[in-house]
Amino acid sequence: MDLKAYIRDVPDFPKKGILFKDITPLLKDPKAFSFVIENFAKHYESYRLDAVVAIESRGFILGGALAKELNLSFVPVRKPGKLPWKAIQQSYDLEYGTDKLEIHEDSFSKNAKVLILDDVLATGGTAAATVQLVEKAGGQVAEAAFLIDLTFLNGRQKLKNTPVYSIIQY
Ligand code: AMP
Repeated sequence: MDLKAYIRDVPDFPKKGILFKDITPLLKDPKAFSFVIENFAKHYESYRLDAVVAIESRGFILGGALAKELNLSFVPVRKPGKLPWKAIQQSYDLEYGTDKLEIHEDSFSKNAKVLILDDVLATGGTAAATVQLVEKAGGQVAEAAFLIDLTFLNGRQKLKNTPVYSIIQY
């Protein structure tokens, strides 16, 4: 299946100079959406995972579907102030300034084997901060998975020891 036909390039969104990869055409098409979830499920069925950790907000769409498909826990990582319970926080650097992400402190059972999932790997800052959050919360990161890897931004480098899997590469 030619998945790139379902990814829409939107120039200068959300700000000038960014070529946004819009996945809503793919989500709108049940065959394409199923193809993606089945691809992830096939790749991870033998990993003996305990949880899928997904990153706000497009990661939730893929992560919820995959967690259900593989019968795993679903754990959300969110921007500060969104999670209602006791949360652990991690700061990370952006091009200009810093941002923060949070995870509930009781997200995992001891040494839970975790998959991190998001729609796009760009510079890798978001995913690298999520690796740190999972480890602080007592989980072990098995791999980080993305629908799209913008390989020219070298996000994999920032993920150091975390193996990366992606379905579409640009
Ligand atoms: P980064 O931390 O640079 O790897 O950015 C990753 C996060 O930003 C992911 O949650 C993506 O959804 C979003 N993102 C970054 N760049 C893009 C892009 N070109 N198109 C769509 N989403 C993007």
